[in-house]
Amino acid sequence: MFLKDYISDVFKGVKSLLTGMKLTGYYFTHHKEIITQEYPDNRDTLNLPERFKGEVVMLHDENNEHACTGCTACELACPNATIKVITKQEVNAAGKKKKAVDTFVYHLELCTLCNLCIQACPTDAIKMAQTFEHSVFDRKQLTKVLNKPGSKIREGIE
Ligand code: SF4
Ligand code: SF4
Repeated sequence: MFLKDYISDVFKGVKSLLTGMKLTGYYFTHHKEIITQEYPDNRDTLNLPERFKGEVVMLHDENNEHACTGCTACELACPNATIKVITKQEVNAAGKKKKAVDTFVYHLELCTLCNLCIQACPTDAIKMAQTFEHSVFDRKQLTKVLNKPGSKIREGIE
């Protein structure tokens, strides 16, 4: 009885293997019918869904200006301290002292991509980018400064 079951299992295994090999052989000779997208070969043509969220970024224009006032609303909205907004005092054109962002620290390694910071920002200074290749050897590289070096707030943003 044991030997009979054993031989039966071997036959079933071989049959299953041949079924799989038949399908593999089919697509090997019918390349045009393959619809599976193979990453990373298709990186340039990859279409991510609109709602896909990869990381928080700060928007800068061609003059290296952003819309961040340093209000810290995003930091307060973040449920897990992913954002730390370090502020400074600046003197504006009217000679008045004003709070401004000095360093916008973002810990991508902590971010749950919940979008709450984006919703909290009153000036749309930050948004979700669709970048997703975040693998690094040192997790310190995932701590980012989102305001670019030398950038400043765009005129007219309060
Ligand atoms: S997406 Fe969520 S977790 Fe990430 S920084 Fe914004 S509020 Fe924090
Ligand atoms: S990104 Fe928006 S919410 Fe965060 S500090 Fe700047 S202006 Fe305020």
